[in-house]
Amino acid sequence: MAEYVIETPKGKWEMVCGLEIHCQIISKSKIFSGASTEFGDDANVNVSFVDAGMPGMLPVLNKECVRQAVKTGMGLNAKINKYSVFSRKNYFYPDTPQNYQITQFEYPLVGEGEVFIDLKDGSTRRIGIERIHIEQDAAKSIHDLNPKKSYIDLNRAGVGLMEIVTKPDFRSPEEVGEFLKKLRSIVRYLGTCDGNMDEGSMRCDASVSVRPAGSSELRARAEVKNVNSVKFAMQAVEFEAKRQVELYEAGETMQQQTRHFDQTTGGTKFLRLKEFSDDYRYFPEPDLPPLVLDDEFIEQVRSEMVELPDAKKARFVKDMGLTAYDAAVLCENKETADFFEKAAKGRDAKKVANWIMGDFFAMLNAKRLPLEKSPVTPEMLGQLVDLITSNVINGKTAKDVFAIMAETGENPEKIVEEKGWKQVTDTGAIESLIDKILAANPDNVAAYKAGKVNLMGWFVGQVMKESKGTANPAMVNQILKQKLG
Ligand code: MN
Repeated sequence: MAEYVIETPKGKWEMVCGLEIHCQIISKSKIFSGASTEFGDDANVNVSFVDAGMPGMLPVLNKECVRQAVKTGMGLNAKINKYSVFSRKNYFYPDTPQNYQITQFEYPLVGEGEVFIDLKDGSTRRIGIERIHIEQDAAKSIHDLNPKKSYIDLNRAGVGLMEIVTKPDFRSPEEVGEFLKKLRSIVRYLGTCDGNMDEGSMRCDASVSVRPAGSSELRARAEVKNVNSVKFAMQAVEFEAKRQVELYEAGETMQQQTRHFDQTTGGTKFLRLKEFSDDYRYFPEPDLPPLVLDDEFIEQVRSEMVELPDAKKARFVKDMGLTAYDAAVLCENKETADFFEKAAKGRDAKKVANWIMGDFFAMLNAKRLPLEKSPVTPEMLGQLVDLITSNVINGKTAKDVFAIMAETGENPEKIVEEKGWKQVTDTGAIESLIDKILAANPDNVAAYKAGKVNLMGWFVGQVMKESKGTANPAMVNQILKQKLG
């Protein structure tokens, strides 16, 4: 494994980092009320009395949120706790109308699990999961509409969250980035969170400390809050680790603290000294009984599990003959993997993969289209590969056919027919093309026969040109060789 070491003239340091990721649960209604979770509605339209913290209102647990969190736990190979308890985390902040958050503390819904990540150097790392607990999201404060006032939008208050806490297993920014991508891929496969970090439905807090390389001590950590992209998370932990190294090397100490990531500078800024759990006066939530799951419920959720990226990747390598790299690219999101499987069914999977990762991805990029809006369907791409395999068109013509498919959404067979691009595979027809070229170029024929064999490429080119690109290049080669002796 490639070591990530922060090296200065004074010494070598390593980073120790753990993540807490808040994932908004995909569910129609909030975790403790019937209000809608719809994103992007007008402010304060999806708010029940529970979400607004009205006196005497009682929370009712949404079973769907529990199901989604259990499913996520299974996707992270984690222990599902049949007994878990809701707790009150007390704090005053304008975006928390109840003045407390209903969360889980000592008894979370999901226990230890693991995620495997692939690194650039080809190695695989295991990242331990500490727990997943479920809780309610806060409302949203809006500070940029009026210079003198802040506004509050309660639509988000009470949306269900899964807080996924990792072990302090990260030793490099690359590992942090790969983990977030992998986690996002898993929750999207499961359909338990949309993983859109830029919309705030997946938010990352990173706890970072440093220590002399090779040591096993754990020093005070800084928690960088609410980082909203993979790239920013990598920047934030790298900046923070280097900042702490400078601090220690200047002879200073560091207290446990909370910091803010500034995306314009790529740096972190001090927010406050970190609260410890005592500060929140946690106690068991009196309005909700402990959550007890039975075997039937757990087995029901297990039966709904889908094939996850690691398993799919292994299958593409083993059963379909793809390289690990190609399989990883195709499995990063489920839609691409499904597209590939449909297109490759009954065909040479490697050829189909090459088309998807080459011309097809390039076309989506150029048109800035998501996969589901592609004018080329998996069936059409499969047919194109069939036309090449059965020698109806050659590889070069196929690229032209694909370009037209991408513009018109037409079937490749129809395009080939209309354009008259069917490959000439008739030996007689190719022979007469070749005879014509040889007769017109006696000097080059003589030169070839005298030993200038690299003229072969030129002859092939002339014949292909004469056929307007439709001659089968392998047959042209073969017949030319015969004729030139
Ligand atoms: Mn939380």
